[in-house]
Order: sequence, then C-alpha cells, then structure tokens
Amino acid sequence: MAKPRIYTTTALVLKYRNYGEADRFVTLLSRNLGQLQGFAKGVRRSTSKLTGHLELFYKVRITLAVGRNTDVVTEVQILKTLGKINNNLDTMSCALTIMELALNISTEGPGNENIYDLLDQTLNRLNITDESNVDKLLTYYQLNILFISGLSPEFKECVECGSVLKQQDQLYSAPAGGIICPKCAPKQTRSLVNLSVNAIKVLRFIGNSDVEDVEQLSVPKNVVSQINDVLNRHIDHHIDGKVRSRAFLKGIK
Ligand SMILES: [Zn+2]
Repeated sequence: MAKPRIYTTTALVLKYRNYGEADRFVTLLSRNLGQLQGFAKGVRRSTSKLTGHLELFYKVRITLAVGRNTDVVTEVQILKTLGKINNNLDTMSCALTIMELALNISTEGPGNENIYDLLDQTLNRLNITDESNVDKLLTYYQLNILFISGLSPEFKECVECGSVLKQQDQLYSAPAGGIICPKCAPKQTRSLVNLSVNAIKVLRFIGNSDVEDVEQLSVPKNVVSQINDVLNRHIDHHIDGKVRSRAFLKGIK
C-alpha cells in the first residue's frame, strides 16, 4: 500500500544531522512505520514553529509530507523530552548507545514494534532511575535487543559440542557467538574472554526479568562490567556497523 501524501505518527528522535544554515535531517523510529527520515526546513531558526522540537531522545507526534527524496516535516508536537538523561554523562552515553543499536537494527516499515517498545521503555527508565542502575539497564537493553534480533549469545550450551554447561567459570568467544566449554576451549584458536559463574547467573536473571526487577537487583559493579564487555563484543561481532557512540565515549572518559 502506498504511503498517503501526508502522514502523522508517534516517533522517537534517534539521530539528526544539521544541514545548511538552518535545516536538519532527522532519523526517527515510529512504532508502526519503523525507521523514518525527515527533512526539517528552517528548524534551527528561532522564528520557526519547529524550533527545539526535534532533539535527541524526544518522543514526538510528527506529521510529514512525502517528498521526492526525503519526506518533509510539517508539524511536530513534543510528547516527552526525557531531559534528565542529558544531566549525567553515564546516563547520556548509555542512551546514545541504545539509540544507535536501535538505529542499526530497526528497518523501514512495520515489524519494529518490539524494538520501539524496548527503546521507549529503557529511555524512560534511564530518565528517572538512579545513576547506579545505568549499567544494569544497558545490560537489560542489549540482551533484549539481541533476543529480538535473533542474535542472542549462547550461555546454556557449549557452542562447539552442544553439551550443557556446568555451573562454573567459563570462556566466551565472540566469533563463535557464545560459551566454549572447558573441553573444547584448548582446541580454540580464536580469542576467548572470561565469563565468571556469577556473571553467567546475572546474565540469565536479567535475560528473564522485567526492567523493574533488573533495577532492584543487587550486583557488584565489576560483574556488570564483565557482562557488558562480553555483550559489547558480541554486538560488535554480530551486528553490522560498530556502535560508534561507545568508541566516542571511551575516548572522552
Ligand atoms: Zn564443548
């Protein structure tokens, strides 16, 4: 079915690129229409009715008119600004990372509802949660987006021999996509990283829990760091396009 000439949808602002003196290209994720590109003419002019309406992390009700190359933004109503995210560097870096993942994984058109809901939910939690929960929310989001994409790491069985893993420290391989058991590990030529028995338990818990339970979970910071390191490697290896904001933040930390 062809898109109507003018259409309205609720969407999250994933990315923008300023253009010329006053214009901006925006990339949005809509629950029912998937990834959208819009051209916001004059949006950076103080007299424009769109001024300040298309910023990162905003949830908007947006109207676009179909254009020859890019659709043109005609109306924007701000639904939520999530302003607290910008107040803290860790929270902001987490929000940028999760938005970039949504950008890499979502597609145009329908079929992006789960990605949209997960992004919307995680951004809302990031906006109100204590900053000590940020790393756990990143784990929650990354595990769930990998699950939605059918790219979950394997933590229950050895990816080489298929044997059920014992409750002990293990080794993870990014190219293999999961844990390699102690019997298969010596034959590996690919690099392996440690994954402690505690980290595996936490991973399983977070993968099976609601976001509220994840925030309540008491877990040492080094365990969450180890988990996020493994998930970052998995994502870098299995999702096209490295998550650039992470590299950027490593640079400024
Ligand atoms: Zn094995």
